[in-house]
Amino acid sequence: MRKYGNANIQARFISSASRQCPSCSTTLPTRLPTCPNCFHIEPLQSSVSYFELFDLPSDANAFKIDTRDLRSRFLRAQRLCHPDVWSGKGKEVQSLAEAQSSTLNAAYRTLVSPVQRAQYILAQHGLPSLETEKLEDPELIMEIMDVRESLDDSTSVAEVEAVRGRNEERMEETTARLEAMLAGENWETARNLTTELKYLEGIETAAKERSEKLSS
Ligand SMILES: [Zn+2]
Repeated sequence: MRKYGNANIQARFISSASRQCPSCSTTLPTRLPTCPNCFHIEPLQSSVSYFELFDLPSDANAFKIDTRDLRSRFLRAQRLCHPDVWSGKGKEVQSLAEAQSSTLNAAYRTLVSPVQRAQYILAQHGLPSLETEKLEDPELIMEIMDVRESLDDSTSVAEVEAVRGRNEERMEETTARLEAMLAGENWETARNLTTELKYLEGIETAAKERSEKLSS
């Protein structure tokens, strides 16, 4: 579990006051311990959270993310540890850069997805997601089964798109509620909403597939 404000955050790079390259003292452009000026590189500390990695606030509103901004932060960091930059500079630094690059990919994939981002925040607060996570509300289970069934029975793209439109609205509502619950530290409710959102995403995927099938 990566907890924000953990006492074992000791890496020089992490304290926002001094994010300078220990080798050439240039201010580092990102949270990565990676200097494009003198090509000094260090292993990324595992205590750095995905939010910290992209210099994003890890506070109550952590869930609220501007995905375009996230993407530009991701690309900026990814450029620093790109294999081309480190090729010919020795195996050791190359593998450090590779490791940073794959951590960045994992962090980006996690934070860009509302479900995975919520799961990450919940895990940071001691509620790791379970493989067997199921909806508990019987009414909701029935509702989702009905929607899945209507998708299977649909005979036109227009029909599918209507289901999809309603589902999108539902996803927006659920996401907004989830955001509020996370901000209010209502973890249990947030966890249920995350599961609900996962099921709604499942409907979105099924609808897309059905639509493609009917239009081909
Ligand atoms: Zn440097």
